[in-house]
Amino acid sequence: MTMMVMALFPSAAAVRSSLVACSAIKRYWASSISSISGSGYWYYQVHVNVGASPTAAFSTIASSSNQEVIDVTHHDTIYRNTNSSGNPKPRVVILGSGWAGFTLARRLHKSLFDVRVVSPANHFLFTPLLPSTAVGTLEFRAIQEPVRTIQGLGQYYQAKAREIQLDKQIVTCEDLYKGVKFDVSYDYLCIAGGMKSNTFNTHNIQRLEGVVVFFLKHLYHARQIRNRILECFERASNPTIPTVQRDRLLSFIVVGGGPTSCEFMSELHDFINKDVAKWYPDLMKHIKLTLVEAGPGILGSFDKALSDYYLKKLNEKNIDVRLNTAVAGVDERYIEGEQITVARFADGTEVNFGTMVWSAGLAPVRLITNSNLNLDRGRIIVDDYLRVPDTRGRVFALGDCAVTPDKLPPTATVAEQQALYLADCFNTYYSKFDVLDTKNAMVELPLPGDVTPYLMPWNILSFLNKLLCNSSPKFQYQNRGAMASMGFGGGVVDLKQTHLPSPKTTISGAASYLVWTSTYLTKQLSIQNMILIPMYWFKALIFGRDISRF
Ligand SMILES: Cc1cc2nc3c(=O)[nH]c(=O)nc-3n(C[C@H](O)[C@H](O)[C@H](O)COP(=O)(O)OP(=O)(O)OC[C@H]3O[C@@H](n4cnc5c(N)ncnc54)[C@H](O)[C@@H]3O)c2cc1C
Repeated sequence: MTMMVMALFPSAAAVRSSLVACSAIKRYWASSISSISGSGYWYYQVHVNVGASPTAAFSTIASSSNQEVIDVTHHDTIYRNTNSSGNPKPRVVILGSGWAGFTLARRLHKSLFDVRVVSPANHFLFTPLLPSTAVGTLEFRAIQEPVRTIQGLGQYYQAKAREIQLDKQIVTCEDLYKGVKFDVSYDYLCIAGGMKSNTFNTHNIQRLEGVVVFFLKHLYHARQIRNRILECFERASNPTIPTVQRDRLLSFIVVGGGPTSCEFMSELHDFINKDVAKWYPDLMKHIKLTLVEAGPGILGSFDKALSDYYLKKLNEKNIDVRLNTAVAGVDERYIEGEQITVARFADGTEVNFGTMVWSAGLAPVRLITNSNLNLDRGRIIVDDYLRVPDTRGRVFALGDCAVTPDKLPPTATVAEQQALYLADCFNTYYSKFDVLDTKNAMVELPLPGDVTPYLMPWNILSFLNKLLCNSSPKFQYQNRGAMASMGFGGGVVDLKQTHLPSPKTTISGAASYLVWTSTYLTKQLSIQNMILIPMYWFKALIFGRDISRF
């Protein structure tokens, strides 16, 4: 197993001290380091073995220039790689710490597998509650779980996987801070890298991202949006602000008619009506909210009656909902000497704006587009067992980045159920296959036996799954229904297609809000967040949201 680290450091002495100090690099032991000098810098190439066998535990990094040896042994890496009998455990490398990756890492039996996670995000994000944090209904830390809290995890690398070498069973990763590259070898690879926001190459969206255009996918996006909204209100309330600039700053555009856009717009409306009205009353009459959707309706995956209901409610809130309207681009112009950002729509109309939240679709992440794997619209094609074809059952893909034969939608419920299914396959069946035996190197991993699908959303009711579902070796998705909130006290729940033993019906209004809150509260992964979330809801309802900007 070989790991390659390439680093650019000012001098050989600095390299040595950096290597000693850098705890990330200390985790690995290395077999060689070669250096060449150029432009006053030393250029080091470090070949590092990650988590090799116990006998190799005291290997080192050595500079070829002076043969000085730096011990970077990380004993955790070694002992976690063996089971209680001292035998090596197969290594399962998981790329991504979202719904699919985090769930899988939690559920795999660490006594059977050496589980390692590679992800730029060192936390799991409970995405359904993300729109609430963007306006301060909830605090950011209440909707995440650190990866390192996973019991028995072999190792976590805060890095982006950049390249998958199927022939060598190696993933080349790039450290998030210095861009240092290193390799992690695997016996089994589970790709769960998710998708990113799709700009559809719309003019200026990528360039102005983080300035006036914001995605809503990660926690840092929600933080950016929250700061931007508060900045707009503070700047707009400045007595010297020109009218054209004030009106622009108070114009908010949400692009996309899916659940994320609708929920964010509802949250923003709540924030404006409950908090802005109290603290910036003079600005209220200048605020403009616009939701733009290229298709003919919002909440396209929901029952038509519910989409219509949601649309009616948005209109009642004086939100300008523009259907069949695509964003053609964003321009920066000078009007009355003021720099203004303008959204141009395909129908020729324009709206000046201060903040645009872009949630219009999904695109593959670089790892997937650069891979040589077979893709269908940017998603990795997998079979009914979530295996990537032609990898002898050594590589799996799940969650948003994978597409199954029945083309399931990219949702958290699909990602979570796939992770639970795969964990059962590994724990019950794949653990019996001796993947470390060199005789089996070219042998196809046997198919799993029966696995019970995960219909019930809660572990405590999982005993019902066996009674309600037919087990099968293949992954079987169970529809648990769909929900979208509408801020405090409102929302829609669609149970028309659900496999749950409930009436096949739709719910809207206060009852759906109750279903939404209780479901997401009880789905939290830690007691801490189960306590924090209702506290923040209560605080926002009674005392309002925090409007400090820092
Ligand atoms: C705001 C919002 C609200 C949502 N609400 C709902 C909802 O209510 N219900 C529902 O069913 N679905 C919802 N979704 C969709 C749901 O969140 C996704 O379908 C789900 O997150 C997919 O899980 P995943 O693990 O495949 O991907 P993600 O959860 O996106 O995780 C991908 C992981 O891969 C990591 N990663 C990215 N690039 C790399 C790389 N190169 N190397 C290694 N790791 C990498 C990321 O950091 C991340 O940890 C929502 C999504 C958003 C954004």
